[in-house]
Amino acid sequence: MTLKLPVYLDNNATTPMDPAVLEEMLPYFSEKFGNAASRTHSYGWEAEEAVDIARENIASVIGAHPQEIVFTSGATEAANLAIKGVWENNPDQKGHIITVVSEHKAVLDTCKYIERKGGSVTYLEIQPNGLVDLNDLEKAITAQTLLIAVMYANNETGVIQPIKAISAIAKAHGVIFFTDATQAVGKIPVDVQEDDIDLLAFSAHKLYGPKGVGALYVRKKNPTVTLTAQIEGGGHERNMRSGTLNVPGVVAFGKACEICGEKMASESLRLRSLRDHFEKQLLALQHIDINAVTAPRLPHATNISFHDIDGEKMIFEAGSDIAFSRSSACTSATLEPSYVLKAMGLSNELIHNTFRFSFGRFSTEQQVDHAVAVISKIVKEHRG
Ligand SMILES: *Cc1c(COP(=O)(O)O)cnc(C)c1O
Repeated sequence: MTLKLPVYLDNNATTPMDPAVLEEMLPYFSEKFGNAASRTHSYGWEAEEAVDIARENIASVIGAHPQEIVFTSGATEAANLAIKGVWENNPDQKGHIITVVSEHKAVLDTCKYIERKGGSVTYLEIQPNGLVDLNDLEKAITAQTLLIAVMYANNETGVIQPIKAISAIAKAHGVIFFTDATQAVGKIPVDVQEDDIDLLAFSAHKLYGPKGVGALYVRKKNPTVTLTAQIEGGGHERNMRSGTLNVPGVVAFGKACEICGEKMASESLRLRSLRDHFEKQLLALQHIDINAVTAPRLPHATNISFHDIDGEKMIFEAGSDIAFSRSSACTSATLEPSYVLKAMGLSNELIHNTFRFSFGRFSTEQQVDHAVAVISKIVKEHRG
């Protein structure tokens, strides 16, 4: 079989759509075009029924009730709604929020907004293995603390935080617990009851669905979480997010969650073995660090630092063979080293030689072997 190049190893950035998901959504662009809020004719009923089924499948993948799912444009909007919604719902608008330095920008930048509005935010540091220190968390809680926001799994390193222990601390202090689970849902078991989560953000395009649709889980009982809406309009989504539903997107999100629910167990085993094989081959090159290797990690992702190479050149040389991601982000003209890896204690120099490889449903052994061969050749050349 000929290999299509470059091999896609950036599934944490976005996943390709599953063909079954695309097939499911297509009719909702054409013959089944109804508005799910139209109550007076069959076009509306047909769309509403499809949304109901999708809502059940989406709720089911996180152990929620369908009425606890609020559709959004993605995880960024869901995180905004969770954090601003909780904070604005507290009458004196003075509340305190606790989050972590390694969160996604969707959470960090929303917390910055809260600070500009007069709120206070504690940004917890992380340990060298990427994990939050539970003692630090507990110590940061004050009488004003409204919300704890800690991501389920990190997009750069794959580190899985001790979510159950974190929610237990939040509960013990009567604090609402929000988790950005965008990288975890559909990949590893996530259960809002088991983990005692109050608010959870996730997104279709990270689990083989389309871009532009996501959801916020909002706990209905024990406790009932109430949010201030961030978009005014027709009162859709139980007054929490107005706007006509993206019916094709929601249908696709539902199908994507259904498939993830069916395949998660076998898929995570297969991807873990691909990932472990990949790491093992690269470790043979020596002077390589697998970051956060002592922490619980997502099975399909790895973050690797290569000593004694030129990271810039490696991206350039490998680019036509492998699509992967560098742990630095280009902001305007400068290359910003990853704040996540910085917080884990890596030097700027090493961060420039650090890369993320994330596998997915359509990754094959042949692709992984090709990536290993290309990287090995480049590393050996750089080291002369
Ligand atoms: C991708 C991602 C987001 C943003 O999701 P969108 O749906 O693209 O807005 C937020 N958090 C994490 C951890 C992510 O990986």
